Amino acid sequence: MPNPTDPNQAKPRHALAVSLNTAFQSLDPIERLILLRHSVPGPLVFTTSLGLEDQVLTHLIIRSGIDVRFVTLDTGRLFPETHALWAATERHYGIRIEGFYPDAAAVEALVDTNGINGFYTGKPARQACCAVRKVAPLARALHGAAGWITGLRADQSATRQEMDFVGFDPARQLLKANPLFDWSRNRIATLAADEQVPVNPLHERGFLSIGCAPCTRAVAPGEPERAGRWWWEDEQTKECGLHLSPDGRLIRAGAHA
Ligand code: SF4
Repeated sequence: MPNPTDPNQAKPRHALAVSLNTAFQSLDPIERLILLRHSVPGPLVFTTSLGLEDQVLTHLIIRSGIDVRFVTLDTGRLFPETHALWAATERHYGIRIEGFYPDAAAVEALVDTNGINGFYTGKPARQACCAVRKVAPLARALHGAAGWITGLRADQSATRQEMDFVGFDPARQLLKANPLFDWSRNRIATLAADEQVPVNPLHERGFLSIGCAPCTRAVAPGEPERAGRWWWEDEQTKECGLHLSPDGRLIRAGAHA
């Protein structure tokens, strides 16, 4: 077993990502979290959007007992239900979920240039808004982290199917782990119901993937879950930029600087 406090025992991180990616395939999510904690020297950060899979992942992290920082990105455009769930989750688990906020001057400049809802005018304006409200705060949230935990699932979109259980993010120089990568939405919803995980009431109203209020709509039965996000854009490529390298590539296990 590697000593998590001794950096000299750490494998080069991209090689570690490849080996963890292989190991994760035969483990359950709690075993994945424990292996990740034992393998990665340095802080682990879980970025939760308070969506269904992230709520289940919070629940599993608590059950695993591992040391993780919980953070969320408060873009300034979230649903009130999301803020209420944030507070309810902290009460339920006895944790603090740190909030990271966009730079006020950057938001003022963005709104001055594009308008308060400029993201509807096209993908460049939408990406500019996500860059200010999500990507820049994410960089601060991950500062100093050795590992980044997310609730990404392969079946959320065609883009995400190309990702891995564990990847190496060369730009941020950290491992990115997706312990629920192979779980279906139904399996996650079942666990949430069975174990009384607090979830967003908007899910019951057809909001399957919940982000910022003006960029999220309910989906009809049978529609893909991410059809409700940025519905005015090309279905195949829409991502907010959180899960892409600066050059727009996906973060894969074998990626290295
Ligand atoms: S999801 Fe919409 S409101 Fe939120 S940061 Fe992106 S463009 Fe802006």
